Amino acid sequence: MCCISRCLPGLPLLLLALLLPRAVLAEDWCAAIGKRLKSVPAAQCRALGLQPAAARSQQGRALMWRDLPPPAKKLASRQPGGRAPRVLVIGGIHGDELTSAALVFRWLPWMQEGEATHYHWRVIPVANPDGLLAGKPTRVNANGVDLNRNFATPDWHKDAHAYWQRKTERDPRRYPGKAASSEPETRWLESEIGQFRPDVIVSVHAPYGLLDYDGPARQPQRFGQLTLSRLGVYPGSLGNYGGVHKNVPVVTIELPHANAMPPAREQRAIWADMLNWLRRNIVARG
Ligand SMILES: [Zn+2]
Repeated sequence: MCCISRCLPGLPLLLLALLLPRAVLAEDWCAAIGKRLKSVPAAQCRALGLQPAAARSQQGRALMWRDLPPPAKKLASRQPGGRAPRVLVIGGIHGDELTSAALVFRWLPWMQEGEATHYHWRVIPVANPDGLLAGKPTRVNANGVDLNRNFATPDWHKDAHAYWQRKTERDPRRYPGKAASSEPETRWLESEIGQFRPDVIVSVHAPYGLLDYDGPARQPQRFGQLTLSRLGVYPGSLGNYGGVHKNVPVVTIELPHANAMPPAREQRAIWADMLNWLRRNIVARG
């Protein structure tokens, strides 16, 4: 199988990404994912039907997503308006949290089974591919920006740098960027939220081993072994942007380890508890 950079050495990655057809981009992306994530072999990644968005990462990598609407007969029976609740699932916004991407890959087939088919899922397993696929994975993107501090929350220009300087002592792992939405990955996530209009957002991280929540619905108490522990609201974070600014519930799942997946039983428990919470608390809005 052809790896882009091996077949055409010397060309900048961004130029290659613009020249190559989408199918080749997806092929190469899965090859790279298969090398980085032990639990996601390249062939399995390709079988998941992810497609590249029109947008690209800072280094020109594909930004991959999958749309999973419910089967038509379930759509009609689910809601009076005939619309299933929309759930946006995002992994790997911090590139060095490998399990946060791997768990979303694991969930993709589960979204096509049983009760999960009552929902319209949109899935972004790797929101920060440059970070995940860097020689040594990085939390930040290729511009050194923490994407989870770069969302255009109200008063970002006033708060984000002040917070970074005072509260994090200019921690480079938490740099919010030169301006709100300065990064292509953030702009793409914001446009997905705007176009898809999710009824809930699930964002997977690691390694704090807890659940966090922002937004209007009843907060979840427990998914598997993870229990609710509010971390607070940060300038430019997805929880702030979605949960506070856009009034969309945002559940943040913090897995206990960035490099070791939870045991299979715990993966299933988190999934089952999340479906229970969705069924009781999330309806299609508008
Ligand atoms: Zn994180």
